[in-house]
Amino acid sequence: MINYRLSKQIAVTGGGGFLGSHLCKRLLDDGHNVICIDNFFTGTKDNILPLMDNNRFELLRHDVTFPLYIEVDEIYNLACPASPIHYQHDPVQTTKTSVHGAINMLGLAKRVKAKIFQASTSEVYGDPQIHPQTETYWGHVNPIGFRSCYDEGKRCAETLFFDYRRQHNLRIKVARIFNTYGPNMHPNDGRVVSNFIMQALQNLPITIYGDGSQSRSFCYVDDLIEAFVRLMDTPDDFTGPVNTGNPGEFTIKELAEKVIDLTGSSSKLDYKPLPSDDPTQRQPDITLAKEKLGWEPRIELEEGLKKTIPYFEKLLKTLNRKP
Ligand code: NAD
Ligand code: UDP
Repeated sequence: MINYRLSKQIAVTGGGGFLGSHLCKRLLDDGHNVICIDNFFTGTKDNILPLMDNNRFELLRHDVTFPLYIEVDEIYNLACPASPIHYQHDPVQTTKTSVHGAINMLGLAKRVKAKIFQASTSEVYGDPQIHPQTETYWGHVNPIGFRSCYDEGKRCAETLFFDYRRQHNLRIKVARIFNTYGPNMHPNDGRVVSNFIMQALQNLPITIYGDGSQSRSFCYVDDLIEAFVRLMDTPDDFTGPVNTGNPGEFTIKELAEKVIDLTGSSSKLDYKPLPSDDPTQRQPDITLAKEKLGWEPRIELEEGLKKTIPYFEKLLKTLNRKP
């Protein structure tokens, strides 16, 4: 039963993207009014098509690098290309989206006294020298490499959030998101889970960059969205940053083998050069999230992959049907 008296007006920037579309749906299901703000640089209308009939959902085509004047109670700031091939396509625009986007959304939050959430990233830790990563670790980031537009843009956005907090007493919430996967990922975003599933389903070679010994920790999208909502609802004195991710750590080779197994594919492993500055290991320490959000992920990798593979199968059928 929806309690409309408690329903809020909530803006989700990047709402047409992978995570944003799941978040919009969750907030609508919770009875809120949702304004989805997106310029569709990497997101697609297909992701939010199922939400369009809901009269509490509104879509605004807008680029967050420009100011925005709306009235809202809460803002989730997710707008930013997130996969390495997407964010390296136009690196200057990537930094602008993180930095100018943060300034514009923080300015909006200040004007309307809204609470504001920032989708930060494990990339703020760069190629980490401590393992697993805790929020107190300052990171090991190359400021001038190919990944820097994203890493440094996100780091600067965090700085802005905390300066708006100190200078203007804004209510802020900063989540550092670790690799997340699930339905609504872009099939060509080049991220490892989408690449491997797409390749496996077509019995194409599985492209492993480097020797596949680098590790990542993969979180299923539903678990992550639960953490977002819980973080937004924490008392005002809790700002984060807080790690949100699944501590289950796998090498990229292990992931490839799991995907081949679960899809019943005849794909073979194909080793390619490792991109520069590719972090060698990544695992969130989620002690803080457990303590402050009462949260930990429930869906393990194999179960999450089983929920994700049918989405890509359906997508492939649609793509193959198109002339
Ligand atoms: P995504 O690319 O699917 O979504 C990003 C959305 O932002 C897209 O819909 C895109 O069109 C939109 N966008 C980009 N630039 C914009 C601009 N200037 N103005 C308005 N909209 C713009 O990526 P995602 O995986 O859903 O990531 C969402 C957020 O979470 C990003 O900020 C990303 O950095 C962060 N994040 C994601 C992950 C992950 O594993 N998915 C990990 C760490 C951080
Ligand atoms: N990767 C890979 N093959 C692919 C795509 C990615 O081996 O087809 C590797 C990539 O080099 C990295 C890891 O998988 O070590 C995760 O890459 P992704 O782009 O998903 O995320 P990020 O590097 O930002 O964590």
